[in-house]
Amino acid sequence: MKKSIERIIPRPARPGMVGDGFRVFNMIPGAGISQQRISPFLMLDFNAEFDFGPSERVRGVDVHPHKGFETVTIAYQGSVAHHDSTGNSGIIGPGDVQWMTAGAGILHKEYHEQEFSKKGGPFEMVQLWVNLPKKHKSVAPHYQPITAGEMGKVELPAEAGLVNVIAGTFGGVKGPAFTYTPVNLMDIKLNRDGAVDIPIPASHNTALLVIRGEVSVNGQSAPEHSFVLFANQGEEISLQAKSAAVLLLLSGEPIDEPIVSYGPFVMNTKQEIMEAIEDFQAGKFGCLE
Ligand code: MN
Repeated sequence: MKKSIERIIPRPARPGMVGDGFRVFNMIPGAGISQQRISPFLMLDFNAEFDFGPSERVRGVDVHPHKGFETVTIAYQGSVAHHDSTGNSGIIGPGDVQWMTAGAGILHKEYHEQEFSKKGGPFEMVQLWVNLPKKHKSVAPHYQPITAGEMGKVELPAEAGLVNVIAGTFGGVKGPAFTYTPVNLMDIKLNRDGAVDIPIPASHNTALLVIRGEVSVNGQSAPEHSFVLFANQGEEISLQAKSAAVLLLLSGEPIDEPIVSYGPFVMNTKQEIMEAIEDFQAGKFGCLE
């Protein structure tokens, strides 16, 4: 049975700025999708294609903390650099993903890669926050850099396109990202008129972001930059591209635990949030210049 569509949400009218380097449309929870409703996903910021222009000073977000969940950055165009308090650093470009587990607490900074910043050019990315279950919230912070070449790749028949499996499985191909709860994350590229059917368990909270192009989803039209929220019934999503399309499909088994969010800290109780703030202020997340 096809998964029914709960809502097709247009892109918000105005973007917001995260630091000075990320011009984002907030789809979760901004579009009225609560963190409980879309669990295990907590936040989705979509930097639709935008050219910031050349800049000698790199744009981005300076040092800030995270605790209790994972931040997943998917680069479509442009290049993002990262440094964190565990000593990890990296640069991701088109097709690459950085999967950072903040766990017990981390400091990091995220910004346009220096050479890209100097030249300018189209920049397009998504940042998704994935919650951790209570028993893994205090895992030591770490990160998985996943290059475009490492993605699980499913070439679709009839030159319909390509599915890059970042996490979870599709067509018997497993994505490289390790997740703490069942999550599917797929970067789907469809050629014009290309079609694909994707099975997703009925129990999963599921959504589709139309990054580029226009696509028919189970027979309903989803315009460019819209966000499709599926009801938790049915097990199949049929996609057909009306024009060349880039889509991000996310689904996950809900984590049935209380969510208490305070900015970059996401825990299960207010008490844990107070402790997180104290730990951060006491310098327990390490240090980063
Ligand atoms: Mn961050």
